[in-house]
Amino acid sequence: MGRSFWFECSRCGYRATVSGGADRGRDLFVQTISCRDCRKLYDAVTRLRISEPTPPFGGLLRPLAAKARKSKAAKSKMDSPPSFEAALSRLPCQGVRRSRWQHYKLQCPVSAIHRVSAWNDPDPCPQCGMVLEKNALPYRLWD
Ligand SMILES: [Zn+2]
Ligand SMILES: [Zn+2]
Repeated sequence: MGRSFWFECSRCGYRATVSGGADRGRDLFVQTISCRDCRKLYDAVTRLRISEPTPPFGGLLRPLAAKARKSKAAKSKMDSPPSFEAALSRLPCQGVRRSRWQHYKLQCPVSAIHRVSAWNDPDPCPQCGMVLEKNALPYRLWD
């Protein structure tokens, strides 16, 4: 069960709803990140459970699938983590027999070239550098 919290800056009024560090749900792991380009906090998806479809026709098509996986387009797609919201709205992997964990690098959901770093409560406000105040009650429970 993952939890998101309200974080608020008493100086500049910046507010964010993030987990405030590393957290995990049943099907995904997140890490709160601070983006130096956006000057915002995000929950970045670091691991996502994805289903592995059983190869059709007893694996006859496997060489084709492997070839497709190696293509550049497919590769760059795999490297980009989904946004937190997109990951949450995915269908759950319940009932899927085969699943594996896909790992992702910390990445800003706005742009892959933004400079981000892990942010863990009580790290400073990304806008002004004050310590952010954490609301004690979870903003929401997810997954
Ligand atoms: Zn950014
Ligand atoms: Zn601030």
